Amino acid sequence: MRFDEFGLDDKILEAISYMGYEKASEIQELTIPAILDGHDIMACAQTGTGKTAAFMLPILDHLAAEDNHDLSTLVIVPTRELAIQINQQIQGFAYFLNINSVTVYGGRDGSDWDAESKALTKGTNIIVATPGKLISHLNLGYVQFDKIKHLVLDEADRMLDIGFYDDLMRILSYVPDERQTLMFSATMPQKIRELASKMLKNPVEFSTAISKPAEGVLQAAYVVHENQKIPVINSLITNKPDLDSILVFSSTKRKVTDIVKSLRKAGNSVEGISSDLEQKEREDVLMRFRSRRTRILVATDVLSRGIDIKDINLIINFDVPGSAEDYVHRVGRTARADKTGIAISFINEQDMEKFDRIEKLIEMEVLKIPVPPEIGEGPVYKVRPQRKGGRPQGKRNYSSGGKPNRGSSDSR
Ligand code: AMP
Repeated sequence: MRFDEFGLDDKILEAISYMGYEKASEIQELTIPAILDGHDIMACAQTGTGKTAAFMLPILDHLAAEDNHDLSTLVIVPTRELAIQINQQIQGFAYFLNINSVTVYGGRDGSDWDAESKALTKGTNIIVATPGKLISHLNLGYVQFDKIKHLVLDEADRMLDIGFYDDLMRILSYVPDERQTLMFSATMPQKIRELASKMLKNPVEFSTAISKPAEGVLQAAYVVHENQKIPVINSLITNKPDLDSILVFSSTKRKVTDIVKSLRKAGNSVEGISSDLEQKEREDVLMRFRSRRTRILVATDVLSRGIDIKDINLIINFDVPGSAEDYVHRVGRTARADKTGIAISFINEQDMEKFDRIEKLIEMEVLKIPVPPEIGEGPVYKVRPQRKGGRPQGKRNYSSGGKPNRGSSDSR
């Protein structure tokens, strides 16, 4: 579907055409008409599917028609990175409109406090905020949310994982009952349904390919001993100039530091990012990675959701993520919006059951590539015995070669 078929404001159409959007993505096609019609919505969609435009374009269309200066839209997100990224997209979409947006998030040096408090009282139309910092402003009593008409909760499942439930309820108490509420979540566990029942009125529900990696991701895995992981990365990326943007995920901050050290020792251009870094340092590291000055970025989960870095060509799960949903999110960092990318996971002896659960969630068996012979033999992949109605499982020894298979081929 083309964007002009939604009946959006011409200035919005002009802006998105400059941004290179031609066809609406699946989630956009589903939600834009319902949001334009004023419905509350509950949408299950991952980052990378175009969900920001899915909620923001119809809201901007409403705001463009009203043409006032009220603070009318509040977008709540789990992380500062996502706040920055959504705000950048809003500024693109609203380029030809007289509409302003401001971010409110913690971790800065305090110099933004005044600008934020001004925006929260008057002076902007859209606020994109993380809950914690917003609550700090709310506590001081000057926040004016009485004109809010559109409330968006993005990555709602992540917000609950972080423990923002009480903050969300508190924020909700400041927002008028008469409003449109749009909730987006990558997964739909029971606690999200409960939150939705508290926040939404007769929502229209949408779901796009729940908890499955975006199309176009080539997924593969190495069954390795822990000490084989760094050598396998080096063998994967040495003499591969095409792989110029590589994101490595690890489970802990400590490990990020170790991986950076080992990869740097092998002569790679690499930096690490974790919540230990100050906000400014994180932005600088991200900027160098985005601009391809740094080839490899090693990150903890902080980055796995929300961050929009274009054209990452290889994702490496140095450790199998703790939850299957996190796997989907990490893998979602590559192959965004119609592109292709590769996601490779390392499975050591301890992570085999975890990886098996991921394969069940994504409903596909990820191809296991043998460890290159010069690195030595990997462990045998042992998973639970075959269950009734399940895929054939059991002991598998991956000793022959193979190519990564296309993630979407047997999953939809
Ligand atoms: P999101 O899921 O909102 O984080 O979007 C992921 C990326 O896809 C962002 O870089 C968007 O600018 C881009 N994008 C979203 N919708 C479209 C579209 N219809 N056509 C092309 N790119 C898009």
